[in-house]
Amino acid sequence: MTKHKTSQPNIVSRPPIVVIMGHIDHGKSTLLDYIRKTNVVDGEAGGITQHLSAYCVEHTTKEGAKKNITFLDTPGHEAFQKMRFRGADVADIAILIVSAEDGVKPQTKEALTCILKAKIPYIVAINKIDKPGANLVRTQSSLIENEIYIEGMGGDISWTQISAKVGTGVDELLDLVLLTAELAEFKTDANAGGSGTVIEGKLDGKRGTTATLMIKDGSVLSGTFVVSGTSYAPVRIMEDWSGKNIKEAHAGEPIGIVGWNEVPKIGEAFITVGSKKEAEVITQKNKLATPKIVEAESDLPTIPLLIKADVLGTIDAIVHELEKWKSDRMVVKVIGTGVGTISSNDVQNVSATKDAIIVGFNVKPDRSAIDLAERLGVEIETFDIIYKLSEWLETALKARTPMKEEEVITGKAKILKHFSTQKNAHVLGGRLEEGNLALGQHVRITRRDIELGRGVLKNLQQQKSNVKNISEGEFGMQLDSKVEIAPGDYIEAFNIITT
Ligand code: GDP
Repeated sequence: MTKHKTSQPNIVSRPPIVVIMGHIDHGKSTLLDYIRKTNVVDGEAGGITQHLSAYCVEHTTKEGAKKNITFLDTPGHEAFQKMRFRGADVADIAILIVSAEDGVKPQTKEALTCILKAKIPYIVAINKIDKPGANLVRTQSSLIENEIYIEGMGGDISWTQISAKVGTGVDELLDLVLLTAELAEFKTDANAGGSGTVIEGKLDGKRGTTATLMIKDGSVLSGTFVVSGTSYAPVRIMEDWSGKNIKEAHAGEPIGIVGWNEVPKIGEAFITVGSKKEAEVITQKNKLATPKIVEAESDLPTIPLLIKADVLGTIDAIVHELEKWKSDRMVVKVIGTGVGTISSNDVQNVSATKDAIIVGFNVKPDRSAIDLAERLGVEIETFDIIYKLSEWLETALKARTPMKEEEVITGKAKILKHFSTQKNAHVLGGRLEEGNLALGQHVRITRRDIELGRGVLKNLQQQKSNVKNISEGEFGMQLDSKVEIAPGDYIEAFNIITT
């Protein structure tokens, strides 16, 4: 890592990076909004808009100390879970928010699993205490039942009760965050080059490739280069969370950087280097090191999809949705992904793959793509709401799923007599033991439960007259089959059902 300014280390405390996690509707967004509106630095509240998926606040503690805290603000929709839960990997501290009306819910548990996996400290915020249906005791019990041992109830997990809507207890919550940060001692060398994690990446129609980085160590200075995987960018257009141009940024802060050679991947680490040359050498090396994914070929029919979206995170979310859609009859295979409008190039590329579909999320095909898709017969589907995409996946993919044929047995009979055989036509006598048989039905012929072969019922007789169905008793039949049938064998008549 390049040192800049001076090579003397300058160890300083840095603001903690905090993620709020919990079940949907338990109040994550409300809490993030409340904290942003009431605690922004420099008294710029009101006029400030959030440009990045993270923001910084200044909080004055009970003791009167002013300290900064950075919050990650990742999308809340269920389909974005993967992105959201990755928050725990970037954050230093998590706030696990639990509604005092509902207690612990499935996503609370999922969030807890992510927090424990990331091995970061967490604080429980029991929210919505202003609501008439709030029940603190019941919520506390549900926490204990789920092995979240909070302070005062036999455990050491800090907790507090809040109303994210009204603001009750939010100051105490932020005090707890700072106390936790103090205990964990988040320190960094301010003179070292910057490093951290990419938390957002997109292709912006007007601005080109942009990415949000969370700096976890060191400083990012104008004039250097940031490198992540096979992507790099000059630190020339650098913005803070409110969209203000800045020349330097420090550990614990999110930054927006414009002008990447390619959109960096969310969740990848980044570092800063001193020159473009260094950046190129590293990305080149990373390019060679990137393993080619070899997927096991499956015998099942495959639906190939090309996914285009406005931001990388959305692609992740869609792939996550696809993972949920599993079938034993068909495989959904992502043959490519990309950020940006669906172009004729995309259509051209997938047209070589049989039955490929282009799925666009928050992006549309341009005119030439529509024309070419029509000519080449390539299907394009676009969405802007994730659940619509899920619905489409459900129905469209099911419609494409090949039919499965199932043999449903309707009746079973025992062969009692063998009268004659001519070529493949056997004249037999039998007794129905279960269900019923019908003229024209296919049968399995079994001997001691082993299938000998198949046949078709060509004629049925009962009391010397031809009948179409047998529902009880003894009967005569002509059974066409290559199998030599003997008394004591069984026939099982079946229908073929397609599902
Ligand atoms: P998220 O899905 O976890 O981001 O939940 P939201 O922040 O969107 O909150 C879901 C609903 O609960 C919204 O209608 C909020 O206004 C409401 N809500 C959140 N926190 C509180 C609270 O402390 N008190 C009350 N009364 N309502 C709240």
